[in-house]
Amino acid sequence: MLAYTYIEQGKFELREKPRPRLENERDAIVRVTLGSICTSDLHIKHGSVPRAVPGITVGHEMVGIVEEVGDAVQNVKPGDRVAVNVETFCGECFFCKHGYVNNCTDPDGGWALGCRIDGGQAEYVRVPHADQGLSRIPDSVSDEQALFVGDILATGFWAARISEITPEDTVLIIGAGPTGICSLLCTMLKCPRRIIVCEKSPERIYFVRDHYPDVLVTTPDECLDFVRTHSDHGGADVVLEVAGARDTFQLAWQCARPNAIVTVVAMYDEPQVLPLPDMYGKNLTFKTGGVDGCDCAEILRLIEAGKIDTTPLITHRFPLSRIEEAYRLFENREDGVIKVAIG
Ligand SMILES: [Zn+2]
Ligand SMILES: [Zn+2]
Repeated sequence: MLAYTYIEQGKFELREKPRPRLENERDAIVRVTLGSICTSDLHIKHGSVPRAVPGITVGHEMVGIVEEVGDAVQNVKPGDRVAVNVETFCGECFFCKHGYVNNCTDPDGGWALGCRIDGGQAEYVRVPHADQGLSRIPDSVSDEQALFVGDILATGFWAARISEITPEDTVLIIGAGPTGICSLLCTMLKCPRRIIVCEKSPERIYFVRDHYPDVLVTTPDECLDFVRTHSDHGGADVVLEVAGARDTFQLAWQCARPNAIVTVVAMYDEPQVLPLPDMYGKNLTFKTGGVDGCDCAEILRLIEAGKIDTTPLITHRFPLSRIEEAYRLFENREDGVIKVAIG
């Protein structure tokens, strides 16, 4: 089968590989019907994910049809349409039991797919802990509607959930890339008083204005003043930092009002400074880190009910055989791309 493979730093290549087989009684083999490219794939390519293993098939955003399951798998069966979770997790360890599935202590726990073990930019993928990592897609939900459930939408959902958003809040979301928009959609479910999106790219600003007319939009240069003017207590009550650019972490805490919650889901290429003397007395609460993707079933229900729609994010479509082209477009942000669908 064809599999897009991490060769070495700076180099991915479409290679012919054997089809994956069941290796454990909890595994499932999924025929990938639709996949996507994530910014994290680019992080692997550029060497900022040291635990990524050369030779693995990349890709951790996909939906497909279960082809085969191990003897211990109970929740899915061959023929089921499923969304694949970015994280594989055992469901039994201390962290899993507390919902911190990103920190699952199993050898295959956390973000393994397309990083430490073969992922889904391929025709087939082996999913360990299939009972936890696969969610059945309701019949009325299409592959394109479900494509982002296991990764960027899970991230947006988790970010909004841990941010303790209330109806009184002004929420600032920094970054309107794919994960930023997913965070926006999930923040909208919480019905805060005001949502402000900060974004630099004119194309993405246009996208937000076009699709979500109730959302206020500003740019990084104007953000601090804008947020102060458009909030009730001198700053945002909640800030979601999803951009991960050079200065966006500083912007995030500066735009927060005293005692605000600042949630950082962005992945940075460089260390960030937490200037405690400058923020002394502001009494902020920071929440950080990688998604705990354990709400996929609920997210699918919300999609089925028409409460979340990420299909406008799919701006381009390619077959797997042309994935090089898709990467080029996505990486260089050509042609107004937000997300590509591969399949
Ligand atoms: Zn991702
Ligand atoms: Zn676990």
